[in-house]
Amino acid sequence: MSDQVLAEIKNLHTYFYLAEGVVRAVDGVDLTIKAGRTLGIVGESGCGKSITALSLMQLVPSPGKIEEGEITYYQTIHQTESASTSNVIEITKLKPNSREMRAIRGNQISMVFQEPMAAMLPVRTVGAQIMEAIMLHQQVNKVEARERAIDILARAKLPNADRIVDTYPFQLSGGMRQRALSCNPDILIADEPTTALDVTTEAQILDLMRELQREYNMAIMYITHNLGVIAEMAQEVAVMYMGKVVEQTDVASIFRNPLHPYTQALLRSIPQLDDVMARAGQKKRLETIKGMVPDPYSVLPGCSFHPRCPQFMEGVCNEVEPAVIEVEPGHIVRCHLYASRSTKARAN
Ligand code: SF4
Repeated sequence: MSDQVLAEIKNLHTYFYLAEGVVRAVDGVDLTIKAGRTLGIVGESGCGKSITALSLMQLVPSPGKIEEGEITYYQTIHQTESASTSNVIEITKLKPNSREMRAIRGNQISMVFQEPMAAMLPVRTVGAQIMEAIMLHQQVNKVEARERAIDILARAKLPNADRIVDTYPFQLSGGMRQRALSCNPDILIADEPTTALDVTTEAQILDLMRELQREYNMAIMYITHNLGVIAEMAQEVAVMYMGKVVEQTDVASIFRNPLHPYTQALLRSIPQLDDVMARAGQKKRLETIKGMVPDPYSVLPGCSFHPRCPQFMEGVCNEVEPAVIEVEPGHIVRCHLYASRSTKARAN
């Protein structure tokens, strides 16, 4: 499997300045996105997953602002079928509406939302939007680009691809728009992409994403609160809480050896089939995470999870912010419980 890095996010801080106070939506995030791999970003609503993705695309809504940090995109330009060059682009230095940023957005870094209509331009045909992406990546003329667009739509299992190429996004169903959208970027950001779909369409979309990933070596950043989908889709997982990555490792380790009390609580809240059967008999409820996510304006001293943590240590967790600790190679956690097991600790 490829280890080619396509994007690096370093020490990203994205804040919202509101009359009520400052919301630190993303508060020091580091992530690496690799070709041919899926990075799952997990957490409850408001933990900063979507704002991290929107920052990567320079689409942070007002009054939000990237306050600090770097986002580097290693762009590949295909000159012929076999030759390519690469270009290092500092995304945080580009203006959100610049020509360069608009060219990257939607072509090389695309985003599929819960409501895919929002991600496609309603006034241009599906084909025109895919052809633009192809012509930016590959040295082909309009006729060849159109043929490739039809081919991509057919591979995405859209019936009558030669007709769909000339339709407008509003003429397609939700599932069809999802398929048309996942066409061929370097990095596909999928933000809860299947929440509004039925289970059969969901399974088809997940299959399609995997197929396109295999074929085009596409990187996927998959944002969800659903750990079940993460188990199916991702190789790497980052768990976010209140704007920070609190644990990150490979997908097998997150399920086999979750370290952060928040990750452990998220895992306990997933229904297992035998559990569901037992609970149905005994009328038991599924375990939920104690308490609520604190209000977004608050800056808690110490660990931001401490008011909800079952392993809270008075005088430590509520006073000292935990550093990032690499407990074993490739497995990092922000929690005082592992201070003595640290191979490396990093200040925030
Ligand atoms: Fe819980 Fe303390 Fe670890 Fe935070 S640092 S997750 S409060 S044990």
